[in-house]
Amino acid sequence: MSSHSEQSLQFVLKVSARCNLNCTYCYVFNKADQSWKSRSALMGDAVFDAAIGRIRRHCIASGQSIVRLMFHGGEPLLVGPRRFRGWLDRIAAELDGIVKVRLAIQTNATLIDDEWARLFAERAVEVGVSLDGPQAVNDRFRIDHAGRGSYLNVVRGIETLRRHGAAFSLLSVIQPGADGAAIYRHFRGMSPGTINFLFPDHNHDDIAAVRARHGDAPIFDFLRPVIDAWILDCGTGPEVPLLRNMCRLIMGGESRSDMFGNSALGFVFVEVDGEIEGLDVLRLDGEGVSACGANVLANDFSAIAQLSDFHDRAIFRGLPLPGGCMDCPERRTCAGGYLPHRYSAARGFDNPSAWCTDIQLLFSYLRRLLDVDVEETEMRRSLLVEMAEERLA
Ligand code: SF4
Repeated sequence: MSSHSEQSLQFVLKVSARCNLNCTYCYVFNKADQSWKSRSALMGDAVFDAAIGRIRRHCIASGQSIVRLMFHGGEPLLVGPRRFRGWLDRIAAELDGIVKVRLAIQTNATLIDDEWARLFAERAVEVGVSLDGPQAVNDRFRIDHAGRGSYLNVVRGIETLRRHGAAFSLLSVIQPGADGAAIYRHFRGMSPGTINFLFPDHNHDDIAAVRARHGDAPIFDFLRPVIDAWILDCGTGPEVPLLRNMCRLIMGGESRSDMFGNSALGFVFVEVDGEIEGLDVLRLDGEGVSACGANVLANDFSAIAQLSDFHDRAIFRGLPLPGGCMDCPERRTCAGGYLPHRYSAARGFDNPSAWCTDIQLLFSYLRRLLDVDVEETEMRRSLLVEMAEERLA
């Protein structure tokens, strides 16, 4: 039987530690951790090869049948299409016949040209495009190093993807105070596969300024009209995984994202220099918090278990529910929210989410729409567990 550190994993390859944009809220460049300054700009071939070799070993040890490899940064397109194509060939040579590979990339889309779009379409790379809304919303924060907005270049990138038939989804950081329904409609007009809304990255030590400026529940205020518009679309619009996942949890199902549910993360990050990280957004919470001490140049992913109990638990076993969540009616659905948002310097990660008020309001609102209270969720959950056990028996 395999140990917990040989369980299935998904991988995020951070192939660039630089970006042609300088979004003001970026957790890589503009939050607590500044380790990007001491890293090389791009991942070299030796680190890439070592990462793929380690991934191969892990997939063989874990026996997993599917692995998702996500290219990430900084801005991953800075590596250039020729090098990227060579890396895809290397992945195929190492992993074909061992494990089915799903490829994805998260990009600001401003550098997408015909060559990139053709490559993504040919090699079935799922493209996630970062965009926060119409030009006036997006260009407030998603700016380049000269302070110019990125919207028009992003739209040009999306049009290029569409011309080549490359599938894309949108990743959007919620902007407190903005009109959620207008943003949802704007995105729907672009026909993405999904619209992934993210809560802004704040923890207990820096959220007070957001609330002072935007009120007690700015994320709920943003998402409530999005929920209404999404439900009115009756499944004819793009999928909104954040809302779908909350509905799934209310109906007794398991979470399919790390935003809710407090399950083991099940994925790791590999930095440009080969450093292995548990969850790169933890940089938000302090210098070095995301690092676990392992590097693909020296270690297999199973070494995480020996090097960092915190990362081992977060990635493979799951962390305990924060003490402040124990009596919450949503402790089995929300279950503390997204890990980086739980942090405070005083108590580490043993806090409810800094977005707790918003989350409770969102669950209440969705519960009313679905007409499912907490007791019914528990009944449904037990029933689903029973049915799963019967299938296994
Ligand atoms: S809603 Fe708040 S208290 Fe309840 S589980 Fe989530 S973070 Fe914890």
